[in-house]
Amino acid sequence: MSKQVYNFCAGPAMLPVEVMERAQREFCNFQGLGASVMELSHRGKPFMAVAEKAEADLRELLAIPANYKVLFMHGGGRGQFSAVPMNLLGGANKKADYLLTGVWAQSAVDEAHKFGDILTHAGVAKTAQGISHLLPTPAFRSEAAYVHYCPNETIDGIEMFDIPATGDVPLVADLSSTILSRPIDVSRFGILYAGAQKNIGPSGLAIAIVRDDLLAQARADVPAVFDYALTAKHDSMFNTPPTYAWYLAALVFEWLKEQGGLTEIEARNRAKAELLYGYIDDSSFYANQVDPACRSRMNVPFQLKDDTLDKLFLAESEAAGLLALKGHRIVGGMRASLYNAMPLAGVEALVGFMERFAKQHG
Ligand code: PMP
Repeated sequence: MSKQVYNFCAGPAMLPVEVMERAQREFCNFQGLGASVMELSHRGKPFMAVAEKAEADLRELLAIPANYKVLFMHGGGRGQFSAVPMNLLGGANKKADYLLTGVWAQSAVDEAHKFGDILTHAGVAKTAQGISHLLPTPAFRSEAAYVHYCPNETIDGIEMFDIPATGDVPLVADLSSTILSRPIDVSRFGILYAGAQKNIGPSGLAIAIVRDDLLAQARADVPAVFDYALTAKHDSMFNTPPTYAWYLAALVFEWLKEQGGLTEIEARNRAKAELLYGYIDDSSFYANQVDPACRSRMNVPFQLKDDTLDKLFLAESEAAGLLALKGHRIVGGMRASLYNAMPLAGVEALVGFMERFAKQHG
């Protein structure tokens, strides 16, 4: 038997093993057709059934109201950084407000500046001890066409569990690294979007959930593949969609339903995060620099108090079958991503390793 390996990569990330085994079984001969799902026309009946089931299951998992379109698009999370302003700032109102909580919120701003009058608001600050914490919700412009925020900052390890109040201004959220990790009230949002490679499936695919009334304010020059209204009109098949990624997403949605849906998944994610943060907080060897009220359940950055041991930690953890723990180059240190597919046993293995390493080198 091969050694048990746990992949803590921030994305592309671990997928449920049951999903990959099923995909492997079906790979060359999908539903007895003698062809791979990858080789099927997106307009043929077998793939259309996959596509429709994926949407229906996602609607069920997130309880998406009927007045929202679910779009399967190209271009990942960053594609949506462009799609959102191109689709919402086409009218006379070019104003959009962005909440700055970390690296990804800032990246969305950098892109939005190309398309409108963008106002940013600080969402986080650091204490004198370097602990990141959330600031009270700022006063967004009441005349803005939308407010954008990133509920889970994959690099900074900051998660916002409360939805900011924006009055009548549509709220847009980049859910790339938290989608499907817990229930969320879709009706509070104008648009939710996510790149797929963390909790959904392979990279490249993006899912946008768009309220119907926001489909009519796109710039005239929005590229067709990023046009929400056109994508909706063609059931996400204006051009050839990323069919294999869509199929894998369908398998992940089915898996999530089998696990008991998002309430059950949230309980598991909470338990995994509590185990790791609890261990870090109790240890004098490791540290996490985020206020407990806004610690990400999906991405746990942590530092060794003696960073000269970082290289050794990474080499030994990898040898122990704990992969991809290196922190993002911007923040350094370590990061363990605990997406839905990471079992509790993976976090237990990580904590066990961290304990042994601290004993040896502390
Ligand atoms: N938003 C967030 C929160 C992310 O974590 C990422 C990728 N890590 C992106 C956007 C960008 O996604 P992509 O690489 O698919 O463009």
